Amino acid sequence: MTTSASWLGARFSPLIDERHGEVADTSDNAGSKVLVVDDEVRMRSSVGDLLQAYGHQCELAAGGEEALGLLSTGSIDLMLLDLNMPGIDGYQVMREVKENYPDTDVIVVSGETTFESATEALRCGAQDFLRKPYAPEELIRIVGNTLRKRSLERNIRDMNRCLEASEHRYRFIVNNSPDIIYMLDNRGHFVFLNDRIKTILGYETDELLGKHYSDFVHKDDLDKAMYVFDERRTGARASHNIEFRLLCKGSSLPFRYFESRSITIELSAMGVYAEQEADQKEAFVGTYGVVRDISERKRAEEVINFQLYHDLLTKLPNRALFRDRLNLAISQAKRSKSKLAVMFLDMDRFKVINDSLGHLAGDQLLQTIALRLSSCLRDGDTLARVGGDEFNLLVPGINGRDDAAMVARKIMERLKEPVVLDGYEVFVSFSIGIAIFPEDGQTIDVLVKNSDMAMYHTKTHGKNGYEFFADNMKAAFHRQLSMENGIRKALEKKEFELFYQPQIDVMEGRVCGMEALIRWNHPERGVLLPDQFIPLSEETGLIVEIGNWVLDSACRELKAWRLQGVSDDVQMAVNISAAQLMQPEFERTVLDIMAKHGVSGRQLELEITENILMQDMDQAVSKFQQLAANGVRVAVDDFGIGYSSLSYLHSLPLNTLKIDRSFISGVQAAKDRSSIVTAVLAMARELNLEVVVEGVERKAQVDYLRRLECSKAQGFFLGRPGPSEEIRELLRKR
Ligand code: C2E
Ligand code: MG
Ligand code: MG
Repeated sequence: MTTSASWLGARFSPLIDERHGEVADTSDNAGSKVLVVDDEVRMRSSVGDLLQAYGHQCELAAGGEEALGLLSTGSIDLMLLDLNMPGIDGYQVMREVKENYPDTDVIVVSGETTFESATEALRCGAQDFLRKPYAPEELIRIVGNTLRKRSLERNIRDMNRCLEASEHRYRFIVNNSPDIIYMLDNRGHFVFLNDRIKTILGYETDELLGKHYSDFVHKDDLDKAMYVFDERRTGARASHNIEFRLLCKGSSLPFRYFESRSITIELSAMGVYAEQEADQKEAFVGTYGVVRDISERKRAEEVINFQLYHDLLTKLPNRALFRDRLNLAISQAKRSKSKLAVMFLDMDRFKVINDSLGHLAGDQLLQTIALRLSSCLRDGDTLARVGGDEFNLLVPGINGRDDAAMVARKIMERLKEPVVLDGYEVFVSFSIGIAIFPEDGQTIDVLVKNSDMAMYHTKTHGKNGYEFFADNMKAAFHRQLSMENGIRKALEKKEFELFYQPQIDVMEGRVCGMEALIRWNHPERGVLLPDQFIPLSEETGLIVEIGNWVLDSACRELKAWRLQGVSDDVQMAVNISAAQLMQPEFERTVLDIMAKHGVSGRQLELEITENILMQDMDQAVSKFQQLAANGVRVAVDDFGIGYSSLSYLHSLPLNTLKIDRSFISGVQAAKDRSSIVTAVLAMARELNLEVVVEGVERKAQVDYLRRLECSKAQGFFLGRPGPSEEIRELLRKR
């Protein structure tokens, strides 16, 4: 598009611009100047006098030379010219006028009477020829006529210039409109289009002229479009801003719109009528319309709509959309008397992964998981992300629990494969709760709440599985909730207590260590064991604070034993949770607590389970290396039931393997063979590691271990976990 302000300025003469296109009125000849050229003095002055008497402005010239001088001032409108003059004659003057002053009219007044001289004069540009001697009225009439003709011609010229400028102005305005402006004839063919058609639809104007509008309308929108394009009404009742799609030219023009082949527009149109004689009805000639491209706005609306109803990270529906779909599905299920399942899925230990690998990796994990979950679903199912690591799934049209269970199992199966994040393999599992319509709830809220409750149940029963909602879960659920609040307060209220379980050197028969085991003296429910509140504490992150309290209390106890002189050679084993280890300040915290109570590294053994290592091996290695550098010992707890790879045995600064009690439980007699215990013992010796066998409940098991020359063991047979006082007593008696 040219910025046409410049040509506008250039083309609009000041005359037209200032008077808004009106033509100057020049019928009054008073302003016209007439030049009388004659070498005869009398003739000259008499003509001059005559003209002046009739109100004309006059100049006199005695010959051709003087005439040319006056002409050069540019102000002469009409010249009365003698032909025969000395020097420059009338013909020469006329040639000069024709050449240089085309705006000046010439009337020859001459004594030459031949026909040839008259035609020659006319050929040279004279407007008229008057013979001397002239009749004064004749001269005045001819002068008057010529001047009037001049003024008429000038009027027409000005008018044309004016029209041309006006045409330019309207064309400029129409072509530079941001909208397409068109006119159709009375049968719907384009008769006018502005240039905007090119940028919006990609067509040249010529390609559309004469074509029917329906060729350019999206076929699904034709009904709507016809209504507007065929508009015959005018004024307020005409169509305004009707939305539909137009087809773009399928070209490779460098406009991005055209790739989508159609754009959404808004059309306003009205009928156009030709003016008729007063008594005749107006004739419909076609429609005039304005097409506005609203595809950008549509796109923005779509984006906003998507954002309103989707989770932006996983692109899954959000809670709002899920509720909407569930609502619809419930109505359908009611009508068709069918069932549907609402599932609540919560990722196990997501918080730990997120805290340890970082939020970016956490996001990636969620995206990958969302894709995997989606791949287990049918078209009609809706999976929504409703919280950090929480998903809701709607499975409509099922026959009953079996169908729902199948979907849940499929999901769990699909999630078994590890997810690779930053080069690490991360294992993910979900706790799933299922509520079935209609038996487990009839409304959105009840179904979602009950599936949530079932999920919670799964969580507290070992995670990684699914459970159907059952009425008795309500009570359990409320217990869980109040438990969570209880744990928060238990620390302030000093309701936690450490028990200590002896670790015995079975070869020498002496106490060589103690494991600190937490107990919760619940105000209403009595003494609670770790299994009843540690998983929940881990899930909620409260374990970090609890863990620090345990470390602090265990170290304080060690100090007390030393002060009382009861033991210097007894190690204290403390259990550490994944969330604790992932704390960026973990090793600092441990060392600070040790320093606070004057505990040396060799007295403290930190117990970690194999699945901690599974989550972030590198972090664990670097942290334990720092602690090991300060003498702190590390034990792998419940060894043998967790991780399948033993590669960590080489990279971790390990001291002890605690063999899980399941391996000894089968041993009945001293002569029994438990190949695993034997194998682990052999391996431990090879790696120069100490071994503690857990869960020793019978004398036969002790004998068995003695026979294998396994030195350390822990179990009810050797000593139950006991409170501080009892254990101090035991150590004193030693
Ligand atoms: P663990 O670290 O393997 O602790 C040994 C568990 O086995 C203790 O259960 C102990 O009472 C029990 N036990 C000991 N000897 C025998 C036996 O002969 N037979 C049987 N059946 N059980 C025996 P407890 O105290 O209930 O602790 C359970 C688990 O809770 C612990 O397993 C540990 O993983 C966790 N835990 C305990 N205290 C803490 C703590 O302060 N912090 C953290 N993070 N976890 C803790
Ligand atoms: Mg332990
Ligand atoms: Mg253990």
